[in-house]
Amino acid sequence: MTFSEDDLSLIFEATHFAAEKHQNQRRRNKEASPYINHPIAVAEILWRVGHVRDIPVLVAAILHDTIEDTDTSPDEIENRFGPEVLSLVQQVTDDKTKPKQERKRLQIVNAPHTSPGAKLIKLGDKISNIHDITTSPPASWSLDRKLKYLDWSEQVIAGVRGTNAALEACYDQLLQDSRAKLLAEDNGEGHE
Ligand code: ZN
Repeated sequence: MTFSEDDLSLIFEATHFAAEKHQNQRRRNKEASPYINHPIAVAEILWRVGHVRDIPVLVAAILHDTIEDTDTSPDEIENRFGPEVLSLVQQVTDDKTKPKQERKRLQIVNAPHTSPGAKLIKLGDKISNIHDITTSPPASWSLDRKLKYLDWSEQVIAGVRGTNAALEACYDQLLQDSRAKLLAEDNGEGHE
């Protein structure tokens, strides 16, 4: 598979665009990592683990949290990256006018009805988030909250299965390892 200059231009432009949009945001871990680490990780997981070579999907993965978490408008995404990328981003964007528990419920309900590309992004997103929660969690999160996140993610991912075997296997292994690690840490085994 070969990629054109235009393809690479789009990847770099999306990365630059997302970095500027997320520039004042930090992850909730104790290191307060730059937020942009997360969408870059999602795109990299799709590329490396899922062997995703669809440029609009990779571009949308980089942009996937811009509408939900920054001042980015749908028009901005459409004008710069086109309607296909906008549609993918919108399919993985929560409606922030709704309460948090309702948004979480809607992710479970809506996931099966999204496009294959949006399902890939959802898989990468949950893999990245579980990795972060396990290795570098939000400072304020209790064990119970972390385990509840894993349970909820499993319900969302149940609705996107049959999309990419490698990503689904990666998710399953990560979920298993993550639960074991969190419970071991709780028993004090994680401390040396
Ligand atoms: Zn995300």
